[in-house]
Amino acid sequence: MTVLLLGATGCGAASGPANRPAASPPSPPTASASSPAASASSSAATASPTARATAAAPARPLRGKVIAIDPGHNGANWSHPQAVNRLVNVITETKPCDTTGTQTDAGYAEHAFTFNVAKRLARLLRREGATVVLTRHNDQGVGPCVTQRAAIGNRAHADAAISIHADGGPPGGVGFDVIEPGLIPGHTGPVMKPSALLGHDIRAAYHRITHEPFATYVGHDGLDVRTDLGGLNLSTVPKVFIECGNMRNASDAAKLSSARFRQRIAVALAAGFTRFL
Ligand SMILES: [Zn+2]
Repeated sequence: MTVLLLGATGCGAASGPANRPAASPPSPPTASASSPAASASSSAATASPTARATAAAPARPLRGKVIAIDPGHNGANWSHPQAVNRLVNVITETKPCDTTGTQTDAGYAEHAFTFNVAKRLARLLRREGATVVLTRHNDQGVGPCVTQRAAIGNRAHADAAISIHADGGPPGGVGFDVIEPGLIPGHTGPVMKPSALLGHDIRAAYHRITHEPFATYVGHDGLDVRTDLGGLNLSTVPKVFIECGNMRNASDAAKLSSARFRQRIAVALAAGFTRFL
């Protein structure tokens, strides 16, 4: 069963019922990072109720900003090959609507990882005042197609967007990789520069906060540019993908399977967005 999965490079390469990831219990949420505003000034305690409420309000640096979060893949993709393998047009090629994603050797599935990180990230961004749009709201469904995943961010006029993944790379490779859109004349031109800036901010924050190394087997210094991803090709808003680590590598798999590390990932991604916006 795992042989088929191992043959694929990249988290999005495999699809179909043969690649069913083993069931994995959801991880309990851990306490999230405390907001900088949590330590309200003590003088507020003696102020009027209105003043106290104002002083205790959290800092909301992302107020008025819209952020689209796309947790890669979905939990029931493996059991719906017909729907998932339907070909869609991503401008540079036609490719399957969606894929099953990869998993760790122990059976922790990428779709569960991406959804868990997305929920944590959404919570942090909303706390900072952002309006967050998710491309899926549970981990038991099918799709949506990569074309729809892009369209959801576009329709929301997101100020920034991210598609969260974890890679199925060679077992000897470690590290993370941020993927920016490449030039597709008539399509990605307007968002290339802001997406590159977003990518640099996400990369810096991720490296600094998670201590995860730049990928040793793909990209350059933790960055990559691609024109084969529908989620980037079709985006009209600044957007990047991140492969948070390599699920087929034992060291990365241990980290990605840890709820504590996933919270750190969410904190890092939130810091990257806050810096960019
Ligand atoms: Zn993926």
